[in-house]
Amino acid sequence: MAENSAISWTTHTFNPWMGCTKVSIACAGCYAEALMDTRYGKVSWGAGEDRVRTSAANWRQPLRWNRQAAETGTRPFVFCASLADVFDNEVDPAWRRDLFALIEATPHLVWLLLTKRIGNVLRMTDPGRGNPVLPANAAVGATMANQEEYDRDRMKLWAVKQDRNPLFTFGSFEPLLGLVILDKHAPDWIITGGETHQGQHRARPSHPNWFRGLRDQSAAFGRVYHHKQNGEWAPRGAKSIVFPDAYAAPCIKLTDLGEDDSRFGAGNEPVWMQLIGKKAAGRLLDGVEHNGMPEVAR
Ligand code: SF4
Repeated sequence: MAENSAISWTTHTFNPWMGCTKVSIACAGCYAEALMDTRYGKVSWGAGEDRVRTSAANWRQPLRWNRQAAETGTRPFVFCASLADVFDNEVDPAWRRDLFALIEATPHLVWLLLTKRIGNVLRMTDPGRGNPVLPANAAVGATMANQEEYDRDRMKLWAVKQDRNPLFTFGSFEPLLGLVILDKHAPDWIITGGETHQGQHRARPSHPNWFRGLRDQSAAFGRVYHHKQNGEWAPRGAKSIVFPDAYAAPCIKLTDLGEDDSRFGAGNEPVWMQLIGKKAAGRLLDGVEHNGMPEVAR
């Protein structure tokens, strides 16, 4: 629902509708589905299930944020659809048309359209097929959890950048589930994060080298870098983290290839990851907060 967001890379969160189908390795711990079990209880997840549009009052919220932004001369970011996917095939296209009209009506807001279906974006923003044009104040992002997803999706996001001229592109590498090697087609803004527990799903750990790799490659390729949080696990011995009790919480040995300790190879930098909870794990990477945000004209 519309709310001021606790997410470090956005000011507001807006959900035009709720409901989705799992399509990625990153969806295993879907936050939205777990919320439906515990909080909203309104929407069943999966293919063929109804998506549920949010209230008219909710749809008016961005108009208010837009007025505030105009008064203060700011351009707040709005993360669109934390409980759904804007480019979901099973959503009524008329809803997306209404959403794009709302985005166009709020030019002081920067809309972040993050999807796990980046392959749908060109078609769903093609006026030649009766679809709405991507609004000028929209940025488009793809979730890519590992190298396989990056290799599969980066050129699709690049094509959106070339053909639809979004405000900028971004990659959400959250949950980060392996080493990712970037190339010149990397998105403009790189966001990393660990996984958190959701319902019955136990968070998977992220090796700190995976975050470091994207931090350093972002600098090398001239991209903006933001590290949202470390997830529930932290590498034992990390200086900037206070460990509640070194031996009480579960530990697993992880190499930077993501293998368990029975398959160690030389140079894979095994670390002991300890389950200490997201609050204690925090969002420092090697003692530093990374809060990079793309610059947009006011
Ligand atoms: S795309 Fe997002 S909302 Fe949809 S199932 Fe995956 S994690 Fe959940």
